[in-house]
Amino acid sequence: MELRVLGCSGGIGGANRTTSFLLGQHILIDAGTGVGDLNFSELCAIDHVFLSHAHLDHLACLPMLLDTVLSTRKKPVTVYALPATIAVLRQHLFNWHLWPDFSVIPDPERGILRYHPLDEGSGVTLDGVCVTALPALHTIPAIGFQLDSGDGSLVYSGDTVGCPEFWQAVNAIPCLRGLIIETAFANHESGLAAMARHLCPATLASELQNLATETEVLITHLKPADSGRTLREIRELDSRHSIRPLLQGETIEF
Ligand SMILES: [Zn+2]
Ligand SMILES: [Zn+2]
Repeated sequence: MELRVLGCSGGIGGANRTTSFLLGQHILIDAGTGVGDLNFSELCAIDHVFLSHAHLDHLACLPMLLDTVLSTRKKPVTVYALPATIAVLRQHLFNWHLWPDFSVIPDPERGILRYHPLDEGSGVTLDGVCVTALPALHTIPAIGFQLDSGDGSLVYSGDTVGCPEFWQAVNAIPCLRGLIIETAFANHESGLAAMARHLCPATLASELQNLATETEVLITHLKPADSGRTLREIRELDSRHSIRPLLQGETIEF
């Protein structure tokens, strides 16, 4: 199974795209601005979208994806998310004010948008890969994801800080091939990071103390203003794990 990194920045501008991954050809994990780089036929092939939480950097392209592919699709695009995330989408996004309610377009029986509530610990198997929601703690309800190809698993933590249940779940995964984890801020913004429930290199180091498995740690969600500084501070960490930045455009096989 292949995971293609469409976006892994904490912001926009120039080549920066926000969080989105293409799993195989038909599944998106988050739908940030990286989705906008897919060509039309790639967009039309998206059948499933898993959302870690309702923040815009993780779903900015979902409304326009649905609008773009509407006339080409015979079956709906299914959005998998926590019930609380789905409630936000219904109330604040697909509400006819900010964007049309695609769950009833082109008509209520054949809406192009379908919601599939996911709870922590529940998994969905699609195209030979099992996607399981992992516990997370952020400023709003959030989950991470375990992606299990059968040969091994990748974990994407989403946006989370200080969640022991997340680490318990990660440490129970038998063939962990990599951990994608955010470090949005540099250490001088540690106050802002704490308020936003994001990591900085110092808190990344303490979070990684909880990781019992030897695996590659891939850093995502760097804020562009301080990305160089944040990476330098991460390189200076005394960690027993192999840590490197996740690269936009790279494909991870697992
Ligand atoms: Zn967030
Ligand atoms: Zn985010």
